Amino acid sequence: MPYIEKLEMKGFKSYGSRKVVVPFSKGFTAIVGANGSGKSNIGDAILFVLGGLSAKAMRATRISDLIFAGTKKEPPAKYAEVTIYFNNEDRGFPVDADEVVIKRRVYPDGRSTYWLNGKRTSRSDILDILSAAMISPEGYNLVLQGDITKFIKMSPVERRMIIDEISGISEYDAKKKKAMEELKQAEENLARVDLLIHEVKKQLDKLEKERNDALRYLDLKEKLEKAKVTLLVGEIKRLEKLIKESEERDKQIEREAKEVENKLKEIVKGIIEKVLHQ
Ligand code: ATP
Ligand code: MG
Repeated sequence: MPYIEKLEMKGFKSYGSRKVVVPFSKGFTAIVGANGSGKSNIGDAILFVLGGLSAKAMRATRISDLIFAGTKKEPPAKYAEVTIYFNNEDRGFPVDADEVVIKRRVYPDGRSTYWLNGKRTSRSDILDILSAAMISPEGYNLVLQGDITKFIKMSPVERRMIIDEISGISEYDAKKKKAMEELKQAEENLARVDLLIHEVKKQLDKLEKERNDALRYLDLKEKLEKAKVTLLVGEIKRLEKLIKESEERDKQIEREAKEVENKLKEIVKGIIEKVLHQ
């Protein structure tokens, strides 16, 4: 588990524009001082550097109110800056360094910038690294002045909610809720896909019927063509036979006519001979 080695503040709340270094030791560190000397401001500074967004939690109206407001002797600071040094020898943070240094600065317009081991980074990257060690600015890693009294005075349900959050149950519950929502979404998607499949299948059945009808039509059309051809061939044959028959009849008539002509010639010849011999 990483632990705080040092905290540096510059222009933060009552800590003026010069850099103030607060060393921490492994285990227990006590900070003592007169009322209003700035003990709780140190807790606020830790909350601030870990990415806290609630000004109220840091006992200020706006985040920019955390900037040293100045005194009669000293002018106000241009920005508030807090640097926290964690010992990371056990690699509790997923950072390949023995020391993890997080720095946050806030300007009068409320804009914040973050650094991790000297490199500019985003708040969400800082939160990711912190969450790997179960640290969160909204969590209960920091128990500030008055928190214990609040904890004792709250209702059992509220207390249960805090215990759930500390033990990670609420995170699990949130994950479960998210998973359930995703499951519901997936089920809805599945139902929609089912409907789509049903619709496509209906369309497919219709198309298959149309295809079968078309095939049957083509088959019948082919049969009709064949029948027409057969009929035509038969008709041609019949007509050829008729032509042949009539040709033969013509020849027969011609023959018969010739015979009649010959007979007539014979008769005429006979008559002529008869007449000549008389
Ligand atoms: P107590 O023992 O009463 O809890 P404390 O040691 O926790 O006191 P803090 O609450 O940390 O004291 O500090 C309060 C002091 O910080 C006040 O004097 C207040 O004026 C000063 N302070 C807060 N914000 C600023 C600011 N932006 N600029 C200058 N001083 C500030
Ligand atoms: Mg205090």
